[in-house]
Amino acid sequence: MWIVPEREIADLVSRQAAFDAVEKVFAAMAAGDARNFPVVREAIGHEDALYGFKGGFDRAGLALGLKAGGYWPHNMERQGLINHQSTIILFDPDSGKVKAMVGGNLLTALRTAAASSVSIRHLARKDAKVIGMVGAGHQATFQLRAALEQRDFEKVIGWNRNPDRLARLEAVAGEAGVPFEAVELEGMRQADVIITIVSSFDPVVLASHVSAGTHVACMGTDTKGKQEVAPELLAAARVFTDEVAQSVSIGEAQHAVAQGMITAADVAQLGAVINGSHPGRSSDDQITLFDGTGVGLQDLAVASAVVDLAVDKGLAIEVDF
Ligand code: NAD
Repeated sequence: MWIVPEREIADLVSRQAAFDAVEKVFAAMAAGDARNFPVVREAIGHEDALYGFKGGFDRAGLALGLKAGGYWPHNMERQGLINHQSTIILFDPDSGKVKAMVGGNLLTALRTAAASSVSIRHLARKDAKVIGMVGAGHQATFQLRAALEQRDFEKVIGWNRNPDRLARLEAVAGEAGVPFEAVELEGMRQADVIITIVSSFDPVVLASHVSAGTHVACMGTDTKGKQEVAPELLAAARVFTDEVAQSVSIGEAQHAVAQGMITAADVAQLGAVINGSHPGRSSDDQITLFDGTGVGLQDLAVASAVVDLAVDKGLAIEVDF
């Protein structure tokens, strides 16, 4: 089997490669060629950690495997480690033999940023000028860097519970030569695209904070009970997701569905828009909302690409297993 350590990932996978892998696998999912398995995600009762497995099989890309890991909220303050820790394991779909183990931390950030970017590419208005960031944690800088490549944004606005952390987003905006402004949540009404990436269990963004025509990518809710936006916003929006079963159970849509404001039938797959079997945004006034729950197939897609590159470049470690 091959091992690709975390330290090698940064030099192996570009934002474009992650975007392409995620867009392709979303399309394969909507075409019925790739399937995610039910997610296991548990509070382990230790260090307030959420731990679990996300797996699947992409028959088109021949990627079989899982990502194991989760979210340890105290890692950064206690050990200087990022709060997400994960590892991807790939298997040979012809034999079941283990094929590779790949560091999943940076890949998680890249594939999550790629997912919101794919949603912006396919759902945001073409003339979007202002992007709003809600959250300034570890994932947020990856989200913003990738999103800025999707439209000719002229301004970044940002909100975080602790405003000191917004300096990180200002730095990313500065790299792209785009001005940055810290705002209150009401100020998000200026935004044409909003990305929410917080780990909250109560709504942060309300329907009154979002203007007509905005595309909202909700990227932080990946567990039962978590919530970033008010359910009224989903009721007012055209809702898309990576995987409908996850969206209504562990994603942002869980709350609107539980309160009877929408049903699973109101949630469409982003892959269908990519494939052209769903029209996507229907007017410049429509609010579109992408519920990015994070699917195992995203991890398998980027990890498979990484293993091929690492083997080619002599950076993968071969282990007799
Ligand atoms: P982090 O710990 O580095 O940052 C957390 C962020 O959430 C900070 O901006 C913090 O201020 C904010 N926050 C925490 N509690 C809040 C509250 N009650 N109200 C408002 N803001 C609050 O985390 P991260 O690595 O940036 O991840 C952010 C979220 O994204 C997590 O919930 C994580 O599980 C989720 N995530 C989702 C996917 C996916 O595929 N959908 C992938 C990776 C991470």
